[in-house]
Amino acid sequence: MSDDPVDLACLVDSLSESQIRELEDAIGARRCREKYGADRIDELLEVWEHVPPCPTCRCREPFKDGSTPQGRARWRCPSCGARFSALTGTIFASAKLPLYKIIRIVEVMCHNASLRLIELTCGVSHPTAHLWRHKVFSTIDSWQEKVMLSGRVWIDEMYFNDTDLLHDLGRKPKRGLSKDLICVVVAIDAHKNVLAVVSENGKPSTKRINAALEAHIEPGSTIVHDCEKAHNALVKKLRLVDERYKANTADPDYLLHMALVNNLCSWIRRYVGRFSCMKSVNLQSYLNWFVYLFRVHRDEEKWPTEERVVRHLALSEGTHLRK
Ligand SMILES: [Zn+2]
Repeated sequence: MSDDPVDLACLVDSLSESQIRELEDAIGARRCREKYGADRIDELLEVWEHVPPCPTCRCREPFKDGSTPQGRARWRCPSCGARFSALTGTIFASAKLPLYKIIRIVEVMCHNASLRLIELTCGVSHPTAHLWRHKVFSTIDSWQEKVMLSGRVWIDEMYFNDTDLLHDLGRKPKRGLSKDLICVVVAIDAHKNVLAVVSENGKPSTKRINAALEAHIEPGSTIVHDCEKAHNALVKKLRLVDERYKANTADPDYLLHMALVNNLCSWIRRYVGRFSCMKSVNLQSYLNWFVYLFRVHRDEEKWPTEERVVRHLALSEGTHLRK
């Protein structure tokens, strides 16, 4: 190579549009290799020495058996004989986007970006941004199932407009805590474990409170809540220590003791407010993502958020079904 300095600006100016895109991809791929050690998902899984479970019978002891026409390692299942690649049955199975763009989408999603922001910062189309957001959401669909709250646990309910009903033109919204509002049951404990579950529309019944919380609160915990009657059965069932404050925003005692859960509600409200076009049927997916990120951010000092989320996504076994 010559030692003459290259006039990069001049060089870039001389490139065609398709060459510019090629250059951007090359730079993206290089940054991805620098940060994650690979610029293709199958290579990344190799770097992490990931052994994929059999997509047919979930056997966890497949062995390597040749390679695919694309040069990816092929695996064979000792129990059912299926042959597959590490991407079979994952959200990456037919991914056309280069890995660096997928990772950028995930990184931007760690900051709760809107679809428009994903399109702008990642250079992808609206349908692509939409598709990948749902793919990412699908990997945490069941994430809240294992959330367990203990010690001091605050619970509350919050309400959102049911946008699916509002789209019903000519329909007049009812006033007050009506069936037009979607109820979300939220809970947080002193360790900052969080739960946010969509219940049905309107004020929740005892049955719905139990359905939302029963499996997620350690029996014998202290429950801190307003004086909602629908909570009583849960207190009894789980032998909870009952600490209650009458909801009154003029009462300093209520504000002090309910601050944690009230803050959680306003964080969730602000978060959901960003997705103005969200359909109500997708609210639970958005809440799953909020709760997942809340946990990841909590542990950020131990494990940087973006890297952790990328790893979670790459190793997730969930498949995305187009809705
Ligand atoms: Zn198998």
